[in-house]
Amino acid sequence: MQLFVSLLYYPIYTLGPGIRVCLWLQGCSIKCKNCISKHTWQASEKHLVDIQTLANKINNYPTEKLTISGGEPLDQVENLIHLLNLIRYTKSDILIYTGYILKNFIKQNPLQWEKLRKLVDVIIDGPFIWSKESQYIWKGSDNQKMYILNKKLLNIYKQYKNQTKNKNLQIIEADNEFFLVGIPFQKDSQKIINYLKSKKI
Ligand code: SF4
Repeated sequence: MQLFVSLLYYPIYTLGPGIRVCLWLQGCSIKCKNCISKHTWQASEKHLVDIQTLANKINNYPTEKLTISGGEPLDQVENLIHLLNLIRYTKSDILIYTGYILKNFIKQNPLQWEKLRKLVDVIIDGPFIWSKESQYIWKGSDNQKMYILNKKLLNIYKQYKNQTKNKNLQIIEADNEFFLVGIPFQKDSQKIINYLKSKKI
């Protein structure tokens, strides 16, 4: 079994509370206007990774905290559930970002949700909506909501939920490419995109 993967990286400081491993999946069918992660939209064979190999790597990182983003993780929900089953025993704080509205996803995928809800601790949902700026560190636009499913993490995530943006972004290097990790203010993300376009990057 395989997943379309964009990037796996540890340590990440800017996508969830604490020091985390972050998995970005490849492929997104939602395609929000002005998405800052357009490089993750198209999935092809070169992005396919064996799920057991991926699980072994994730289990070996010295953290119980994992963030899964994309791309759109729930576009590969069955294979994602398979991965989560293999890593759950080492990860007690699993945060998933999805561009779907969770209530709609549950209605349309009740069987998958039954499995997924036991394997995930926190979900942040909703598409990125340009012009709905948010002051909070964890959301790209104000419509997005956080669902804390694991009540053991309530205190940590309630604190995190109230944190305002501090403009901190992490720069990482992987496969000879540089990535900015974190959630910028919308006006800053547009400046970054314009700058990169002007440099033809
Ligand atoms: S769901 Fe996420 S990756 Fe997909 S277009 Fe929206 S912001 Fe970009």
